[in-house]
Amino acid sequence: MKVACTGGTPRRITQQALEQAMAKAWKSSFYSISQVSNTVFMAHFRNQEDMIWVYTRQPWSVNSEIMLLDWFDMNVHASSKEDYKFEHILVTIRAYGIHRNKRSLSLLEDIMNQVGVASDYHILQENNLFTRQDYIWGVANLKVGDPVKDRVIVNYSDNTNGIGYLHYERIKRICLFYGVLFHTAQNCNFRNSLITKRAKSNQTDLHIPTQRFGQWIIDEDYVPTEDKTRHFNI
Ligand SMILES: [Zn+2]
Repeated sequence: MKVACTGGTPRRITQQALEQAMAKAWKSSFYSISQVSNTVFMAHFRNQEDMIWVYTRQPWSVNSEIMLLDWFDMNVHASSKEDYKFEHILVTIRAYGIHRNKRSLSLLEDIMNQVGVASDYHILQENNLFTRQDYIWGVANLKVGDPVKDRVIVNYSDNTNGIGYLHYERIKRICLFYGVLFHTAQNCNFRNSLITKRAKSNQTDLHIPTQRFGQWIIDEDYVPTEDKTRHFNI
């Protein structure tokens, strides 16, 4: 387990705080956690069932910091515990704006695969399509460091298309400039390098915004709604 951070300085979390939080969250699936380095920890489980229970219910957080999880194989990685790379995270993604009678599992899987890879652990079912009035949802395996999308074009089976607005559940920090998880625009390396480049080339009149993505990726209250459009048209 590792404190998720892709820009700025990762928050320091103590082993004790992490152990307390995870013992509470994982309940009977919790066994123990040991510390590997400042930001890396190792969770130990009694059996595979407990381990998979925890793995498939990501993301887990402590003190509002998300922890990245990855399988650790003692035989393969014994000498590289400290610099072990945590490259993936399972995230529940909601897609708003898809009309009820246009929803389908293949459409949902396509949306998951436009951002990451639909999780093999979470089989998409009718539930994912119809339990919520305003969105469909699924779990995708995202590559940490790759930008996410705030919307996708969806192609319906009747040859029409529309826009799905994506929200990433429980990921409170996503760069609204470039869409990368676990940093803010303030700590965006990509944006900061653009600012530096601009200064070097004396193009100081070139505006570099702080936000290019819809805020709904981190806060569902900002999802554009059809209702608003209708209201606007009256
Ligand atoms: Zn960024």
